[in-house]
Amino acid sequence: MNSTCDPLPAPALRAEADDAVFERAYVEGLLRDRESLWHALFAQSRDGVVVLDEAGKVYETNQRFADLLGYTMDEMYQLHVWDWAHGPSPEELRAMIREIGDDGHHFETQQVRKDGSLVDIELSNSRTFFRGQKLIFCICRDITARKVAERRIRYLATTDTLTGATNRGEFSRRLAEEIACARQHGTPLGLVMFDLDHFKRINDSHGHDAGDAVLRGVMEVVRQSVRVGDVIGRWGGEEFMLLLPGSDLADALGAAERLRVGIEAQDFEPVERVTASFGVVVLAPAEGFDALVKRADVALYRAKSAGRNRVETVSGD
Ligand code: GH3
Ligand code: MG
Ligand code: MG
Repeated sequence: MNSTCDPLPAPALRAEADDAVFERAYVEGLLRDRESLWHALFAQSRDGVVVLDEAGKVYETNQRFADLLGYTMDEMYQLHVWDWAHGPSPEELRAMIREIGDDGHHFETQQVRKDGSLVDIELSNSRTFFRGQKLIFCICRDITARKVAERRIRYLATTDTLTGATNRGEFSRRLAEEIACARQHGTPLGLVMFDLDHFKRINDSHGHDAGDAVLRGVMEVVRQSVRVGDVIGRWGGEEFMLLLPGSDLADALGAAERLRVGIEAQDFEPVERVTASFGVVVLAPAEGFDALVKRADVALYRAKSAGRNRVETVSGD
């Protein structure tokens, strides 16, 4: 028999309480499921994921990002973004964190591993507010393999495979660029065109492979005598160009003469003697690409006509 202080609620109230408990358990289960779903996504992502707090410290990260940088998960939680970002200073990174808006950023960068080596990264970041604090989400994809392939493709597209010199297309691009730069800054620009003398005879006497070896050997002599910033191009066959940014006529004539002597003095066994003829010019005011190259060609022709193994110039006035 129920007493007046019976704690049990009336049947209707009891049913209501059961519903509330059931509903709460249901919602909690749903939240747990969603959390484990997000956690699985985070943990199993093939990309490194790192969440930073406003101070640039690691707030959350996944195993993939720790592996990418070569740290343990415990070590990761001690790090700040400047411990792996390559390039910007801590101050610049703090400013970047302050400035990240709703849209975030997407860019390529490099990160420093624990062992000091660099890894190429494609990074997407975005901002969110969680429990009253600003958090930065960063998704980091390792693009090392893609970068290696890009560098290889670029090398193949711009380099002459026999000699390693810049190919004609790339040399032309650089020449046009340097002409614009020289004009803008009023600096001199030297151009040397040179061609091996009687090269056909070398092929005829020693074979095409020996001819190829001479072309590679000449390129080695040139490479050893140029400055950083000079560009060596294979213009065609046994004809080369040397672009000398900042060189006036005296400098360019001197560079060509050193090359002439260097090639003449080099031993190209079994080929007895290799020489080259040189046409040297310096960009004239208002002169364009075609006119400059033409003048170098005329100067080279002059060197050939005057007996080969010599350096000639043609004035741009
Ligand atoms: P000149 O002194 O007037 O320049 O005479 P030359 O014999 O050097 O010039 P010519 O234009 O008559 O012959 C150039 C030769 O260079 C012909 C061509 O077969 C050869 N040649 C061009 N490219 C290559 C190459 O990649 N390898 C080899 N081995 N020979 C090449
Ligand atoms: Mg020749
Ligand atoms: Mg030639």
